[in-house]
Amino acid sequence: MNVTTKEIFKSELPVGETLSIKRTRFEGSRQDEKKKRISIVSGIHGDELEGQLAIYLLGRWLNENPDKLVGIVDIYPAVNALGVDTITRGFPIYEVDLNRSFPGSKDDFLPGQIVYALTQDIKGSDIAIDIHSSNIFLREIPQIRINKEFSNSTLPLAKELNCDFIWIHDAVTVLEATFSHTLNSLGTKTLVVEMGVGMRLTNKYGDQLLRGMLNLMKQEGIIECEEAFEVRTPFTSETGSVAYMNAPKSGLFVQFLDHCAIINKDDKIGDIVSPLTGEVLAELKAPCDGILFTLREYPVVYEGSLIARIFSTNK
Ligand SMILES: [Zn+2]
Repeated sequence: MNVTTKEIFKSELPVGETLSIKRTRFEGSRQDEKKKRISIVSGIHGDELEGQLAIYLLGRWLNENPDKLVGIVDIYPAVNALGVDTITRGFPIYEVDLNRSFPGSKDDFLPGQIVYALTQDIKGSDIAIDIHSSNIFLREIPQIRINKEFSNSTLPLAKELNCDFIWIHDAVTVLEATFSHTLNSLGTKTLVVEMGVGMRLTNKYGDQLLRGMLNLMKQEGIIECEEAFEVRTPFTSETGSVAYMNAPKSGLFVQFLDHCAIINKDDKIGDIVSPLTGEVLAELKAPCDGILFTLREYPVVYEGSLIARIFSTNK
């Protein structure tokens, strides 16, 4: 196995610092004519770190099992390197969301140059995975979001990734300026993973996604090994509907349920309380049976804040 780290983008910043975006390539040493390539990206949003853990675990596994790699694994753990360094979701200074800046170009403003460099580097990969971790307000169980337009090619791959839920979005709701839309349009089968919570690491989710990535890589002939990576069967949004729960009042959300619980209609999810008066302002009960796949993490809520998303197989 050959391991090389390369700078895919570099720019001098006005403050005398250098912005550098790097990728590491793990390449099997067997001389195959056409090696399959998977590219794994995280940190397009600088405050989302769960993907860095999953990518670290994958790199460690490859370092421990160099003989099992047949294809090419490219990792880009911190695309928005400046955002990661400054705990910022968007690209600092310009205050733009890199995942709304694709495909970019060479002559674009700095964020557009970065996403262009990333796109050019990944172009030609067979598969790409873009790992996100929600934000600081909401916790997500490991799930995959895919665009209906590309679901014929991406849904079978998504099922190999050991996630709990696959959410297929209608083409109309999908933004074209994203990483996944750009790479899917260029012929790389691209999946978006959402898991965990912003600014934090969830160890068990890192392990869960590692197993899924190894399973996918084995199925696709990127690694070869005896080991069977057993994966869970995800729910998909094709077989049910998603219900949203929003806060009816402003206050402090005190949760009663573990995340990712299978819940029944009228189960208590939590209370919105007033620390000032000692009152319960609202009792929140599940509107349907299903799995709670998104749950409010940050406890201060305002009227209308998203509290939970529940996937229901009732209809
Ligand atoms: Zn994100």
